Amino acid sequence: MQLFNAVRQIGKAHLKYNQASRKKVPDGLWIACPKCQQSFYHKEIGLYRVCPLCGYGFRTRAKTRLAWLAADFQPLDTTLKTINPLKFPKYPQKVKQAQQITELNDSVLTGIA
Ligand SMILES: [Zn+2]
Repeated sequence: MQLFNAVRQIGKAHLKYNQASRKKVPDGLWIACPKCQQSFYHKEIGLYRVCPLCGYGFRTRAKTRLAWLAADFQPLDTTLKTINPLKFPKYPQKVKQAQQITELNDSVLTGIA
Protein backbone atom coordinates (compact mmCIF):
# COMPACT_ATOMS: atom_id res chain seq x y z
CA MET A 1 0.00 0.00 0.00
CA GLN A 2 2.83 2.36 0.79
CA LEU A 3 4.15 2.09 -2.76
CA PHE A 4 0.74 2.88 -4.24
CA ASN A 5 0.37 5.94 -2.01
CA ALA A 6 3.80 7.16 -3.11
CA VAL A 7 2.86 6.71 -6.78
CA ARG A 8 -0.36 8.66 -6.22
CA GLN A 9 1.57 11.52 -4.61
CA ILE A 10 4.01 11.63 -7.54
CA GLY A 11 1.08 11.68 -9.95
CA LYS A 12 -0.53 14.61 -8.14
CA ALA A 13 2.74 16.55 -8.15
CA HIS A 14 3.15 15.84 -11.86
CA LEU A 15 -0.35 17.15 -12.59
CA LYS A 16 0.24 20.31 -10.57
CA TYR A 17 3.53 20.90 -12.40
CA ASN A 18 1.90 20.42 -15.79
CA GLN A 19 -0.88 22.89 -15.00
CA ALA A 20 1.62 25.46 -13.72
CA SER A 21 3.92 25.08 -16.71
CA ARG A 22 1.07 25.47 -19.19
CA LYS A 23 0.18 28.88 -17.78
CA LYS A 24 3.72 30.20 -18.33
CA VAL A 25 4.01 29.14 -21.96
CA PRO A 26 2.22 31.16 -24.70
CA ASP A 27 -0.38 29.10 -26.49
CA GLY A 28 1.00 27.05 -29.32
CA LEU A 29 4.47 28.58 -29.70
CA TRP A 30 6.51 26.93 -26.97
CA ILE A 31 6.10 23.57 -25.33
CA ALA A 32 7.30 22.80 -21.82
CA CYS A 33 8.65 19.33 -21.19
CA PRO A 34 7.48 17.88 -17.85
CA LYS A 35 10.55 15.62 -17.62
CA CYS A 36 13.52 17.93 -18.31
CA GLN A 37 11.55 21.11 -17.55
CA GLN A 38 12.93 22.86 -20.63
CA SER A 39 10.89 24.75 -23.19
CA PHE A 40 11.34 24.34 -26.91
CA TYR A 41 9.76 25.67 -30.09
CA HIS A 42 6.66 23.68 -31.07
CA LYS A 43 8.05 22.64 -34.46
CA GLU A 44 10.93 20.83 -32.75
CA ILE A 45 8.57 18.25 -31.23
CA GLY A 46 8.41 16.38 -34.53
CA LEU A 47 5.97 13.87 -35.93
CA TYR A 48 6.24 11.43 -33.03
CA ARG A 49 5.81 14.06 -30.32
CA VAL A 50 9.11 13.48 -28.51
CA CYS A 51 11.06 16.07 -26.53
CA PRO A 52 14.20 16.92 -28.59
CA LEU A 53 16.20 17.51 -25.41
CA CYS A 54 15.51 14.43 -23.30
CA GLY A 55 13.40 12.05 -25.39
CA TYR A 56 10.25 12.32 -23.27
CA GLY A 57 7.21 11.06 -25.17
CA PHE A 58 4.28 13.44 -24.96
CA ARG A 59 0.72 12.13 -24.74
CA THR A 60 -0.79 11.17 -28.05
CA ARG A 61 -4.30 10.17 -29.05
CA ALA A 62 -4.89 6.54 -29.86
CA LYS A 63 -5.92 7.27 -33.44
CA THR A 64 -2.76 9.30 -34.05
CA ARG A 65 -0.56 6.57 -32.62
CA LEU A 66 -2.39 4.02 -34.73
CA ALA A 67 -1.71 6.07 -37.87
CA TRP A 68 2.00 5.83 -37.07
CA LEU A 69 1.86 2.06 -36.75
CA ALA A 70 -0.52 0.88 -39.47
CA ALA A 71 -1.28 2.04 -43.00
CA ASP A 72 -4.70 0.41 -42.97
CA PHE A 73 -6.90 -0.20 -39.91
CA GLN A 74 -10.36 -1.70 -39.64
CA PRO A 75 -11.84 -1.15 -36.16
CA LEU A 76 -13.66 -3.99 -34.40
CA ASP A 77 -16.25 -3.85 -31.64
CA THR A 78 -17.18 -0.25 -32.34
CA THR A 79 -20.61 -0.70 -30.76
CA LEU A 80 -19.29 -1.86 -27.38
CA LYS A 81 -20.05 0.55 -24.58
CA THR A 82 -19.17 0.55 -20.92
CA ILE A 83 -21.77 0.06 -18.20
CA ASN A 84 -21.82 0.86 -14.50
CA PRO A 85 -22.65 -2.41 -12.71
CA LEU A 86 -21.16 -1.26 -9.39
CA LYS A 87 -23.10 2.03 -9.49
CA PHE A 88 -20.11 4.35 -9.08
CA PRO A 89 -21.35 7.89 -8.52
CA LYS A 90 -21.06 10.28 -11.50
CA TYR A 91 -19.62 7.46 -13.60
CA PRO A 92 -21.91 8.05 -16.62
CA GLN A 93 -20.94 11.74 -16.71
CA LYS A 94 -17.24 10.85 -16.50
CA VAL A 95 -17.57 8.31 -19.28
CA LYS A 96 -19.43 10.77 -21.49
CA GLN A 97 -16.77 13.43 -20.92
CA ALA A 98 -13.97 10.96 -21.71
CA GLN A 99 -15.78 9.85 -24.85
CA GLN A 100 -16.04 13.44 -26.05
CA ILE A 101 -12.35 14.07 -25.42
CA THR A 102 -11.04 10.85 -26.95
CA GLU A 103 -13.71 10.43 -29.63
CA LEU A 104 -13.80 6.73 -28.68
CA ASN A 105 -16.57 4.65 -27.11
CA ASP A 106 -14.25 2.75 -24.82
CA SER A 107 -10.72 2.93 -23.42
CA VAL A 108 -9.49 0.25 -25.78
CA LEU A 109 -9.21 0.57 -29.54
CA THR A 110 -9.28 -2.81 -31.25
CA GLY A 111 -9.14 -3.77 -34.88
CA ILE A 112 -7.33 -5.40 -37.75
CA ALA A 113 -4.30 -3.68 -39.25
ZN1 LIG B 1 12.43 17.00 -22.19
